[in-house]
Amino acid sequence: MTNTTHFESKPNFYSGLNVKTTSSQNRKKATQQIMNREQTNNSANSNDFKISDIFGSNVFNRQIMAQLLPKPVYKSLVQSLDKGERLDPSIADVVANAMKDWAISKGATHFCHWFMPMTGLSAEKHDSFLVSTNDNGAIIEFSGQNLLLGEPDASSFPSGGIRSTFEARGYTGWDPTSPAFIMESVNGKTLCIPSIFCSFSGHALDKKTPLLRSMDALNRSALRLLKLLGNEAPTRVISTVGPEQEYFLIDEAYFLSRPDLINSGRALFGAKPPKGQEMEDHYWGSIRERVLAFMIDSEYELYKLGVPVKTRHNEVAPAQFEVAPVFETSNIACDHNMLLMEVFRKTAQKHGLRCLLHEKPFSGVNGSGKHNNWSLADDLGNNLLDPGTTPAENSQFLVMLTSVILAVSKFGHLLRASVASAGNDHRLGANEAPPAIISVYLGDMLTNVVEALVSGKKEAKGKHGLPIEIGVSLLPNLPRHDSDRNRTSPFAFTGNKFEFRAVGSSQSIAFPNTVTNVIVAEAMRIIANDIESNVKAGMDLNASIAKVLQATLKEHQKIIFNGDNYSKEWHEEASKRGLPNYKTTVEALPCLVTKDTSELFASHGVLTHEELNSRYKIMLENYIKTVAIEASLTANLAQTVILPACLDFQSKLAMTITATKSAIPNLMLGPQEEMLRDLTSKINDFYRSIEVLDTLIKNGSDNHDLLDEALFYEQQVLVAMKEVRKHADGLELTIDDALWPMPKFREMLYIY
Ligand code: ADP
Ligand code: MG
Repeated sequence: MTNTTHFESKPNFYSGLNVKTTSSQNRKKATQQIMNREQTNNSANSNDFKISDIFGSNVFNRQIMAQLLPKPVYKSLVQSLDKGERLDPSIADVVANAMKDWAISKGATHFCHWFMPMTGLSAEKHDSFLVSTNDNGAIIEFSGQNLLLGEPDASSFPSGGIRSTFEARGYTGWDPTSPAFIMESVNGKTLCIPSIFCSFSGHALDKKTPLLRSMDALNRSALRLLKLLGNEAPTRVISTVGPEQEYFLIDEAYFLSRPDLINSGRALFGAKPPKGQEMEDHYWGSIRERVLAFMIDSEYELYKLGVPVKTRHNEVAPAQFEVAPVFETSNIACDHNMLLMEVFRKTAQKHGLRCLLHEKPFSGVNGSGKHNNWSLADDLGNNLLDPGTTPAENSQFLVMLTSVILAVSKFGHLLRASVASAGNDHRLGANEAPPAIISVYLGDMLTNVVEALVSGKKEAKGKHGLPIEIGVSLLPNLPRHDSDRNRTSPFAFTGNKFEFRAVGSSQSIAFPNTVTNVIVAEAMRIIANDIESNVKAGMDLNASIAKVLQATLKEHQKIIFNGDNYSKEWHEEASKRGLPNYKTTVEALPCLVTKDTSELFASHGVLTHEELNSRYKIMLENYIKTVAIEASLTANLAQTVILPACLDFQSKLAMTITATKSAIPNLMLGPQEEMLRDLTSKINDFYRSIEVLDTLIKNGSDNHDLLDEALFYEQQVLVAMKEVRKHADGLELTIDDALWPMPKFREMLYIY
């Protein structure tokens, strides 16, 4: 590496006293190790490949199926995939056999149902292709039954109370809409079959099932609405998603010297570095060789898995980066994002780096999110949120747009709840991520159109002040791809899609997309009902559309905000408009279990009351456990790692004063005594704060209600943790650098 950042410039006054602090030596060793690192080589071939040669080479995709399956089987499979119909079970054996032969020819020895339990991570249990025979031998076999159904003994996954222990077994089932793939690792290859995961009684125990159901709900509502508008051509409507992923990379040697990063994914201590992101010199800067090697290597692995990663760049914070894929259907985008996170973690380690996906690994610089770009497409390849060129297309576009506005206005609280987590709480609401107040950015031009529609004017101001005429058939000549940008909005229209920016970087995008799909499906249902009832009452279709749009936009215009979402004025204005501002997970989650929400999810067949309730519980439990772990770590590290270093310094200072006094008896040492007194008092305060936290941890909460318990962690434990950190970070800036036991931000964020 050619990194020339120098680690320590401050002379060490106390080295003569020779007090040993092993942790601080580790810190120096880590830096030394990094300076001596040689760049890790990329995977064989990943320096020199054609994307077209390797893209999807480890995926059992349609091309491969067309080659390997008998024609009628292939046709039947593709038909059910395209129409979203149930698969003919009689073809399962044939598909399974072809899949097995293909996987074995690629070197796979095992297969697994790859699923997404409610931990938010992916899960897999590998089985070999070998099965025993009657004569005690073994043959290689993979039947249709193996493909369709798995019975992992999965009783340790969270179920939020759905599964009682007597029926603890969960079942995994093949999701044919997401292609099977081969996961390579250094020591072997495994055929992974994307699957759903449910209980014996059919309750969804995972994140994929509700997402698939929400796509169906959206399809039903959208087709009905399109038909009503006179567009009978599409036979299927899907939601498309392109999630932009932010992440940090730090050197593994530092990572391993930070127990907080190892155990909680974020730095629980650390003073703000003198240089943060204020110079704005990292964003889109030239990418360092070592990081680029990591990126190219990850991309190579992802291409083989058919994950269409497209853009890469440096993000705002030092050591922060972003990757964005080409969009796909929401289900596949979600699977691919899970794979991407996994490949990033693995590849980083190969390069002596660690990939941090936490929402806020380092306070004082930006956190990481996942911008969930979302749109609607029909099976003819049309983006339904793309302003069209004819009046009829634009009328349809406006109805779609209004549906999304209605959805976000009526159910913004559900979007907020869908991204609630302990990690994301550090990000939402700060001056970097979108605020917790959910609003929609439309841009000036579309906002003018909305205002004209609401007021019944026949003209709106377009780009550059040119008028747009609004006629009977609604909206001629809407300029396409309005390039206005607003980076502060949580839900921004960006030309032909919406970008939901509040999703957390470590989070699965399944639930946020499930919510987006279901609320838009509901909004479309409401709008279709209204248009239909006007028409039934004898109103002309266009007049009815205009009337419904006017009424809907009038009522829900309040959700549109094009200004700076970080400003204090917006917080005041939003509160006047009655928009909720759920700042924390504990405030945000309860709306998931209201009667209205329950009816919404149940009526669209996405989640039953029980299933919804289980998600609420799991999200709360997750919050509680995360904060509890962080609290223990904070107390632990404060007491056993940071405090000893501080006491060392105190003792050195005391010894220095005593030694100096005995050498020169009448010398005045006022300032140095003051330093010692000040230090002692800081250490005392620090110690007291640890005691407070410790007591809270020991006593725990005496709440039996999950929400109250979560509230205890939010309002007491987190506050006590912050206090400990405040003192520790102050001491970091006070004591001898050579004694400080953990890598500092100014090192971790810059030396890699
Ligand atoms: P922007 O500059 O608005 O961020 P980009 O073209 O860079 O737009 O796209 C950002 C992300 O949005 C990419 O992941 C891309 O695949 C995704 N995206 C683009 N079009 C769509 C769409 N129709 N539906 C869903 N995602 C989309
Ligand atoms: Mg973007």
